Amino acid sequence: MPATLDLTDPSARPLRPTAIAADGKPVLVGMDRGELIAAMAEIGVPERQRKMRVNQLWHWLYVRGSSDFSDMHTISKDLRDKLDAHFSVARPEIVEEQISSDGTRKWLMRFPPRGAGRPVEVETVYIPEEGRGTLCISSQVGCTLTCTFCHTGTQKLVRNLTPEEILAQLLVARDRLGDFPHKDTPQGAIVPTEGRKVTNIVMMGMGEPLYNFENVKKALLIASDGDGLALSRRRITLSTSGVVPEIARTGTEIGVMLAISLHAVRDELRDELVPINKKYPLKQLLDACRAYPGLSNARRITFEYVMLKGVNDSLSDAKELVRLLKGIPAKINLIPFNPWPGSAYECSDWETIETFADFINANGYASPIRTPRGRDILAACGQLKSESERMRKTERLALEAMMIAGHGAD
Ligand code: SAH
Ligand code: SF4
Repeated sequence: MPATLDLTDPSARPLRPTAIAADGKPVLVGMDRGELIAAMAEIGVPERQRKMRVNQLWHWLYVRGSSDFSDMHTISKDLRDKLDAHFSVARPEIVEEQISSDGTRKWLMRFPPRGAGRPVEVETVYIPEEGRGTLCISSQVGCTLTCTFCHTGTQKLVRNLTPEEILAQLLVARDRLGDFPHKDTPQGAIVPTEGRKVTNIVMMGMGEPLYNFENVKKALLIASDGDGLALSRRRITLSTSGVVPEIARTGTEIGVMLAISLHAVRDELRDELVPINKKYPLKQLLDACRAYPGLSNARRITFEYVMLKGVNDSLSDAKELVRLLKGIPAKINLIPFNPWPGSAYECSDWETIETFADFINANGYASPIRTPRGRDILAACGQLKSESERMRKTERLALEAMMIAGHGAD
């Protein structure tokens, strides 16, 4: 008879080695509380102490931003040494940090191989704006989907990012921005949440987050945990190209704001631009949006619409867009197309974009046009492409001259 395991007892749950640091030790960042309790059990922490130790660790990792056990002075030296011998809380390697003249920052991080694979590199972008700072996080290295206007879509999927790697992007950004202001605040003290540098997260970097649902969910639940990083779920936006079967779960299980990469209002064109439309056509997609849990006028869905010259930017497209979204509490984000070498499209003229925006505004939709940000460091939507498939220098220079857009969510 096969052995059985009582999965209701967290200490009996086997440790899933989802994330291994460069030194070969399992990483505690990205584990949920149950897994951390199991990790404590594994190194012999007495049962009655485990919950308390996990609370302490949680505080050090996510409130203080600690990346070294030796900082954790509320934990005894013996236990710190033991933790250090078995586990890691180290940050990934930062390969490159770029700061744009407009304050946009971009980090290239390297994560160790998983299994037989190679190390991977991932880009994360920070966009400061008046009153908020948005971090654009990647969920996969590459993408299985092949949207024709997206640079990431030209890169094959290398692999899903683990919860630790998704969270590490936020932790590194906070480190580099000096955005762990409570490093010296006593545990339990009330700390202000105002004035933080990273106030919003958008899952709009590389990859399709809903094709890495479990890992994205785990990372976002940790990011929004009130005793840790404490980002409000209303300030976290997950963008999907339209993986319809996972949309309802995004609302019920993660509870974050939803953005849909719409880009076309007719199936024929959307089949071409966003090929997942062949599997989940517009009607199914919009029905799933209508049924999105928690949807209200205060919690609208953002529809992203990339402006492609002569392709989807006519007034009749704008009319159809308004018609399609009728009854859905929605915001429309018009994104000027960011060209990349070899792309088959051009960005719509500014006048055309304004006419389009005016029409949808007149019909009651806020429709901000994303303003170009970080142009000098290639930090735009759809321009992110992992260094696992590094661009040639000439291509980079060509891209640097091009127009790019920033991301935004309220
Ligand atoms: N895979 C998810 C999230 C990442 S893409 C999705 O598709 O929604 C983030 C946003 O950037 C999407 O709306 C995407 O359509 C847009 N985008 C991709 N390539 C672009 C480009 N070249 N110019 C402007 N926006 C682009
Ligand atoms: Fe993938 Fe999103 Fe790019 Fe489409 S737009 S290829 S889903 S990253």
